[in-house]
Amino acid sequence: IAVVAMGAALAAGTLAGCGNGGGDGSGGEAVKVGLLLPETKAARYEAFDRPMFEEKLKSLGNYEVVYSNADQDAAKQQQQAESALAAGIKVLVLDPVDAASAGGIVSSAAAQDVPVISYDRLIAGGGLGYYVSFDNEKVGMLQGSALVEELASRGKADGRILMINGSPTDSNAAQFKKGAHSAIDASDVRVIGEFDTPDWSPDKAQSWAEGQISQHGGDIDGVYAANDGTAGGAVAALKAANADPWPVVTGQDAELSAIQRIVAGDQFMTVYKAIKPEAERAAVVADQLARGEAPQGDTTVEGTPSTLLEPVVVTRENIMDTVVADGFWTVDQICTAQ
Ligand code: BGC
Repeated sequence: IAVVAMGAALAAGTLAGCGNGGGDGSGGEAVKVGLLLPETKAARYEAFDRPMFEEKLKSLGNYEVVYSNADQDAAKQQQQAESALAAGIKVLVLDPVDAASAGGIVSSAAAQDVPVISYDRLIAGGGLGYYVSFDNEKVGMLQGSALVEELASRGKADGRILMINGSPTDSNAAQFKKGAHSAIDASDVRVIGEFDTPDWSPDKAQSWAEGQISQHGGDIDGVYAANDGTAGGAVAALKAANADPWPVVTGQDAELSAIQRIVAGDQFMTVYKAIKPEAERAAVVADQLARGEAPQGDTTVEGTPSTLLEPVVVTRENIMDTVVADGFWTVDQICTAQ
């Protein structure tokens, strides 16, 4: 069958799957692909993005992943990109710490004919091979609407909220913020304090929230937190202040600790972004680019062929139908204290 398939490929005029020039699993030297992720405080990167990408890419051929994590340091990420390029990577998958300065990495890669896949966060300046992410403005809209609706259902349609946004250097953070504002600004909910969290740091989110809680005498009905890390910081600040009644808190990423907070009633919602299809799409596209093929996008973002996946709201009511049904977390994991 393999011989017939090979013959058909040759007859069709393509050498895909023939020889060892690409990641074809036929032995020979592994083709190197760079994967640069931005930080470790959000649990997703080391626990899901990296292993899911590596597993899928290796199933597609003889690939070696050159991996680094930048710990939210843009200069460090720049160096990691330079060493990956020096190591001879054929494709770079880059989730940038700083969307603007990452344009320099794209130029260095282009100088070596290495295409760049913008992973999860959009790199500014164009010249990209592909972009794979979620509809990030929609993430913010889902968070903002869930917050507004829950406040209304608690008789606080004109409630007072704090907004804890993501990192000012992350292009996604601006999208989340825009989407959240579109829902919140269209309601009677009042924003009494707003903060762009440097480096998405949960600790910085927590200390800012502590200051706000004392400044406003604890009179806070809700906290828009852009992700589960910052939500964790907000919840710690609210607990330290013995908040009562307990405010409505949002999040994103469906981290295990956040799902547990939702079950416990400390966090109202999170947004589940299924990482597997995101990481696997990046791997499929990396394989195509390594073979010199031009990947087809499902859509186009700023001129780049792209895939934008759909985010899903998770509250206590649908944990079973979302993250559990999808195999992201098991009931045992959720119900076991960490
Ligand atoms: C990602 C989020 C993540 C945040 C902090 C964003 O770009 O989309 O999933 O929580 O960065 O790392």
